[in-house]
Amino acid sequence: MGIEIQGLSYWYDTGVCALKDISLTIQPGECVALLGHNGSGKTTLVKHFNGLLHPSQGVVLINGIPTTERRVAQLAGVVALLFQNPDDQICKRTVWDETAYGPKNLGYANERVREQVNASLSAFDLLTMKERNPHDLSYSERKRLAIASVLAMDTEIVVLDEPTAGLDPREINLLKAAMRQLQSNGKSVVVISHDMDFIAENMLRAVCLENGRKCFDGGVADLFEKHSFLEQCGLLPPQVVQLSSHFNLRLQTLTPKDFIERLVD
Ligand code: ADP
Repeated sequence: MGIEIQGLSYWYDTGVCALKDISLTIQPGECVALLGHNGSGKTTLVKHFNGLLHPSQGVVLINGIPTTERRVAQLAGVVALLFQNPDDQICKRTVWDETAYGPKNLGYANERVREQVNASLSAFDLLTMKERNPHDLSYSERKRLAIASVLAMDTEIVVLDEPTAGLDPREINLLKAAMRQLQSNGKSVVVISHDMDFIAENMLRAVCLENGRKCFDGGVADLFEKHSFLEQCGLLPPQVVQLSSHFNLRLQTLTPKDFIERLVD
């Protein structure tokens, strides 16, 4: 169950081979960071989870069923995907209608739609803006709206493409609280991000892609130890790890989360 990818390769019509023989399993309730250079294939990979793309070779199973055997509308009830750019997603005339659009399409009862929308908008500090036109909002407000709309769908699997981009530290804290909520509700969460501090605090497992191939799958603490490998993937270790090197502290026995807690203490 969860997400199972077997030997996935994908060629765009242009002939670009964006994914090469990827195999990967994400268990229900697991939170995984998907990392790599721009152009390494991350977005192409996650578009396979909700049937926006179908494998050229191999298979992607969601809860044991190949995505090719489900309609996109059925998959939308299981996998919700946040696009990197909120403007690729927003289509309604009020903040409330935008957030209610997904849950309504999934056929949720009115009461459930109302509850989900209220909870999501409150979590991202948007409730007071519920009557406003999304296109009149600032970029970070639209970004929070896009995230709130994805979470309002209450799907088992949530994929967030660069969720912290454009958010200030206070807004990132709202996102962190939402991540904790997703984890305590047993959701599978895949986060594409270049924000290593966010990854260090919220994820335990990382998968790295390079030129469409999987080049790492393991613990984030292990990954952050591999400085030259990280650089090769276009990434810098999180600030806490850079600090730890500075103070000659070793992370081998600590997870990044434990390390942050020690620093805070
Ligand atoms: P990432 O999300 O890691 O930045 P992408 O999945 O967007 O990477 O892109 C992987 C590769 O596929 C890149 O070489 C990119 O140029 C190519 N690509 C992405 N989208 C398309 C498309 N619609 N048509 C053709 N090539 C594409």
